[in-house]
Amino acid sequence: MAKRTKIKDILKGGFEGQEVTVKGWVKTFRNNQFIALNDGSSMSNLQIVVDFENEDPSKLKRITTSAAISIEGTVIASQGKGQAFEVTAKTIEILGDSDPEKYPLQPKKHSLEFLREIAHLRFRTNTFNAVFKIRHHLAIAIHQFFHEKGFVYMHSPIITGSDAEGAGEMFKVTTLPFDKTPRTEGGEVDFKKDFFGKATNLTVSGQLEAELAALAFSEVYTFGPTFRAENSNTSRHLAEFWMIEPEVAFADIHDNMDLAEALLKYTISHVVENCPEELAFLEQRLSDEEKQKPQHERSDMTLRDKLNFCVNNEFQRLTYTEAIEILKNSNPNKKGKFQYPINEWGADLQSEHERYLVEKHFNKPVILTNYPKEIKAFYMRMDDDNKTVAAMDILFPGIGEIVGGSQREERLDKLMARMDEMHIPHHELEWFLDTRRFGTCPHAGFGLGFERLVLFVTGMTNIRDVIPFPRYPGSAEF
Ligand code: ATP
Ligand code: MN
Repeated sequence: MAKRTKIKDILKGGFEGQEVTVKGWVKTFRNNQFIALNDGSSMSNLQIVVDFENEDPSKLKRITTSAAISIEGTVIASQGKGQAFEVTAKTIEILGDSDPEKYPLQPKKHSLEFLREIAHLRFRTNTFNAVFKIRHHLAIAIHQFFHEKGFVYMHSPIITGSDAEGAGEMFKVTTLPFDKTPRTEGGEVDFKKDFFGKATNLTVSGQLEAELAALAFSEVYTFGPTFRAENSNTSRHLAEFWMIEPEVAFADIHDNMDLAEALLKYTISHVVENCPEELAFLEQRLSDEEKQKPQHERSDMTLRDKLNFCVNNEFQRLTYTEAIEILKNSNPNKKGKFQYPINEWGADLQSEHERYLVEKHFNKPVILTNYPKEIKAFYMRMDDDNKTVAAMDILFPGIGEIVGGSQREERLDKLMARMDEMHIPHHELEWFLDTRRFGTCPHAGFGLGFERLVLFVTGMTNIRDVIPFPRYPGSAEF
């Protein structure tokens, strides 16, 4: 195939007077003369000027929106407004037609919900071009951050034989037939006859596996898909989402907070530096959307203001107990505005409380620590008061919880006592308990929800619009 020059490179300059081959999809074709061509390398289109008087009319008819074409031509300085360079076409080849009668997108703004239903064209819109470029840059920045610090990228399994993690409802993995399920004498499903010889599920978290690796490599992280069969139809939950889970030996909860804050700041500034075009577009999109809202709900910060604010300010750190005091005495609580009023210590915080703390009271990212043991997982380290555990959640404006983590309980007796209190059978987790039997040590880690980070950085409002193929209750298209 003829060597293709990317549109991004042509628009950067340095090709003037040169013959190039460009390939891409037609955005628009005006006056039988001007093609706006996009190849995904840049959000900007390349203008192709067609010598329509000397071109076969039947070919011109096939230059329709979304058709794939290949152009050979010369790069020249553009006379028109809006672009510095354009290409005058010498030959035009239609690679793939796009029938305008059947093409589902009109040249107007479509709802994000509608676009979700046409996965192939969704990628060709400006919004999703920007979102998925930023998603890519965030993923790279995350690997870069950990790699530079000497962490080992550890692949935790997607199919797991342990169902005791308790992070959420699990999807079962089985090859047993539904109609003739083998049964034990007692009438239970006989998983010994199943593919793995036992019941298996899709993972809800790679943490326990990461703990094993951390107690050998000192510093590891996972970055992979996780699955939760929770029926939470919200703008912040997916049934399949990606999670980053660092786990660090010889670290306490304070080291853990420092690491999480540094990771978030590093990745956000990476996007600010590397994706100016995408951010400018999404910022405009967000501000257009804000204009639809009533005055008092509008933000006075632009998208990039928000990102920079987050990078340049220390996250507010406070304990759960301090947060409860603030919430108890808050105006919305006193005026009965919370759906779940805060009356006493021990209450689980709902998203309305998290948002109050982050968006009204502190007006910046918040790290909440030392939650009551009753509302947190069994593996979190017991504090000296025997009431709270060394948990830490990071709450972000507009998002709520973005990170959940803790210092882990490294003392075998305390860990087993906690499992007993929570009715978690030991035999399921002997392999995990062994880490506490053979060279245990203080260690800590957290889970960062990748899509929640993408949501924050792109300023999108629904988590379904920041993952290429969203899975949520009632929907697993494509
Ligand atoms: P939430 O209270 O928001 O449901 P969680 O307490 O269940 O979160 P963890 O189990 O601590 O969350 O998971 C770690 C991180 O994974 C969360 O901080 C969040 O960023 C992300 N996360 C959790 N559940 C989902 C989900 N269903 N979809 C997308 N991201 C999620
Ligand atoms: Mn949850």
